[in-house]
Amino acid sequence: MKPAPFAYKKARSLDEAVALLGEKDARLLAGGQSLIATLNMRLSAPNLLVDINGLTNLNGISVKGSAVEIGALTRHAQAERSDVIAKHAPLIARAMPHIGHPAIRNRGTLGGSIAFADPAAELPACLLALDGEVETTGPTGKRTVKARDFFKGLFETALAPLEVLTAIRVPVANKDMRVGFAELARRHGDYAIVGLAASARADGKGLIDVRLAYFGVGNTPVRAKKAETALASGNIDAAVAALDLDPNDDVQATAKAKKHLAGVLLRRVAKQLLEARP
Ligand SMILES: Cc1cc2nc3c(=O)[nH]c(=O)nc-3n(C[C@H](O)[C@H](O)[C@H](O)COP(=O)(O)OP(=O)(O)OC[C@H]3O[C@@H](n4cnc5c(N)ncnc54)[C@H](O)[C@@H]3O)c2cc1C
Repeated sequence: MKPAPFAYKKARSLDEAVALLGEKDARLLAGGQSLIATLNMRLSAPNLLVDINGLTNLNGISVKGSAVEIGALTRHAQAERSDVIAKHAPLIARAMPHIGHPAIRNRGTLGGSIAFADPAAELPACLLALDGEVETTGPTGKRTVKARDFFKGLFETALAPLEVLTAIRVPVANKDMRVGFAELARRHGDYAIVGLAASARADGKGLIDVRLAYFGVGNTPVRAKKAETALASGNIDAAVAALDLDPNDDVQATAKAKKHLAGVLLRRVAKQLLEARP
């Protein structure tokens, strides 16, 4: 299928992008890896595409104080190859190779993935597991939203209609940080049936501040808080038994199968969290 007709404008500045979003049925175009598919399938038919690919100041990865800041237009492939990400944001480094295929990672952006908020996507769960935050710019200026407040529902976020997501920030990993990541997909690169992104802090031989963020099991990335508490007490079996998830059946698997797989992933990720930092 072909998309419905639309107008196209290339924004030359962030202010211009925000202003163009004020036009009727305007939509931002970043890497286009999700948006163009929805246009082609006529699941969405905006009047105007506002291309932000020229806003090069939204592209980049840097350490700013105690946070790693990743510009919204940073491509997945850039993050995958980044030494800064490998060293200071190891959870994101582990997740990147699971996102689609190389052609998708060459074009798709981190900002696009967070803004699109697919419940089976890896990066929203990583952001939640790391207690990260999102920076946005709109007509009234900049705003910072914590990941826990950002993902509101199925493909629904706290982004206001005229806001552009400009960057995400996650804490710089220190020597006590432990991270774990695993997902089950039918083929490598497919959206996950179930996935788990996790972080914790080492406390002697145990863990504290355990954060388990599942994806593919609800309308948003979901924390399994009872399992977090059980895992912090060092009991993996108890953590699996305490898994407080309530997935629905979907095209990939039944709710029962997803819940079982969530337990399998928890055992894998718990081992990673309890290992020395890579
Ligand atoms: C075959 C295939 C397999 C894939 N597999 C995976 C996978 O396994 N895991 C995964 O996570 N993703 C997967 N993706 C999606 C991919 O990661 C996309 O790149 C990502 O979801 C969207 O990023 P984008 O830059 O392409 O955004 P676009 O497609 O350009 O935009 C997506 C949506 O976000 C909005 N948007 C984009 N940027 C911003 C911004 N800065 N501020 C506000 N709104 C914005 C757009 O208006 C649009 O509504 C797959 C895609 C394909 C085609």
